[in-house]
Amino acid sequence: MSFSLLSAAAHGGGTPAWAMLAYLVAGVFFILALRGLSSPASSRAGNRNGMIGMAIAVGTTLVMHGTNLVEIGIAIAIGAILGVTIARRIAMTAMPELVAGFHSLVGLAAVVVGLAAWLNPAAFGITDEAGQIMAVSRIELGLGIAIGAITFSGSVIAFLKLSGRMSGSPIMLPGRHVINLGTLGAILVLIGLYTVSPVGGAGEGWMVIAVTVLAFAIGFLLIIPIGGADMPVVVSMLNSYSGWAAAAMGFTLGNSAMIITGALVGSSGAILSYIMCRAMNRSFISVIAGGFGADAGAAGGAGGAREQRPYKQGSAEDAAYMLEQAEKVIIIPGYGMAVAQAQHALREMGDKLKEKGVEVKYAIHPVAGRMPGHMNVLLAEASVPYDEVFELEDINSEFAQCDVAFIIGANDVVNPAAKTDKSSPIYGMPVFDVDKAKQVFFIKRSMGGVGYAGVDNDVFYMNQTVMLLADAKKMVEEIVKSLD
Ligand code: NDP
Repeated sequence: MSFSLLSAAAHGGGTPAWAMLAYLVAGVFFILALRGLSSPASSRAGNRNGMIGMAIAVGTTLVMHGTNLVEIGIAIAIGAILGVTIARRIAMTAMPELVAGFHSLVGLAAVVVGLAAWLNPAAFGITDEAGQIMAVSRIELGLGIAIGAITFSGSVIAFLKLSGRMSGSPIMLPGRHVINLGTLGAILVLIGLYTVSPVGGAGEGWMVIAVTVLAFAIGFLLIIPIGGADMPVVVSMLNSYSGWAAAAMGFTLGNSAMIITGALVGSSGAILSYIMCRAMNRSFISVIAGGFGADAGAAGGAGGAREQRPYKQGSAEDAAYMLEQAEKVIIIPGYGMAVAQAQHALREMGDKLKEKGVEVKYAIHPVAGRMPGHMNVLLAEASVPYDEVFELEDINSEFAQCDVAFIIGANDVVNPAAKTDKSSPIYGMPVFDVDKAKQVFFIKRSMGGVGYAGVDNDVFYMNQTVMLLADAKKMVEEIVKSLD
């Protein structure tokens, strides 16, 4: 079958039945992928299904259009080489900013496709008999470019904040809510004007350019005031935006696979953002409106002066002794475990304690680490049994009955200031009640270091807390040796 026979009209002219069927099959694989990714046990199968779905979608599109295959092949090869190189080199700790970086590329792709369709609408099949862009396509174009540009600049800021190239503290511009609302309103008005503007009328060009520029600006403005505990929500929200941008471009390109994939990413990202907001006790609207709830006085920041208070420091031998005496130990991993790559040593420690008859559980906070599911991924990589891993709401009541709370590289997620200090940037976020445990071991490298929110933590100074000041992996390896 020749490519020309296969390549029926793209937009509006009817995608061939076989391609629609193939896209439907790809869509089913994407849904199975999401289903699989809902649990660590099935996540590998979920990823595989996603890859199969994507291969079917890309293959179908290439066969259906059948043009410029050499150029497309070269572009795919360059992308594949870059992708494989990045995937091989990336450290687990740099995953969050990599994800933000990839979201920015999805946004940029949507902007570029939108601008290409605007400049050459006939090639995209979005013109009417008079050769002008159809009204419905103008809406798709305007929204696709706007959401893509917001995703791009927002994700670039998230990348800079997560990689430490820019301060994680909120940057509060005076009158930011008025500026943000005004800019969003202007974008919507311009898209409306562009849709109803006289066909080919004067000023059409500047409207598209203005929408693009304003959307780039609003993405930047919405993310700079986000800091402290709200970044996780923003990361999943940008994930959602990237899906909607792709879906809008799917309409422009008349590609149902892109619409399905974009809608799945957009809606699952939105649901994840909502779940994270509930877990963090934050209002969804406040966070997406760009730090509405944030207070300039609560910006936190690693540089602030901190009071010198007395604390107890212990050794690996002290910890090993107390751990093997315990009946029940709850381990709370956090970002520092990811930095130190201590998960394998930690699993070994858990195994040793279980051999000695100690009950061991792992407690995961929804925002521990630097990306959703960060701790689950690391513990799964180290083959920690899933039935020993518990979410915050399922385990928090057990601290009152546990002998040892073992905090490894976590900080903000155990900070009681979230419950008591209204001026704290993490106020309102539910945290682990480690203060209820009989004994607390707290691994971090020094008393000077702070968590992401940049605030001091009363847990360091509690009577029952012993600080284990060292790299998490080294400390746990020493504890394992002492347990032999
Ligand atoms: P935190 O960032 O609060 O604390 C990390 C702790 O690890 C610090 O006490 C640090 O102290 C210690 N640490 C760092 N490196 C090492 C090491 N090599 N060995 C031992 N300790 C180390 O982590 P949490 O997981 O408790 O909290 C996550 C925070 O990140 C929350 O504020 C959350 O809002 C935010 N966030 C989460 C995202 C997500 O999607 N999960 C995304 C963006 C932000 P020291 O330097 O002294 O060693």
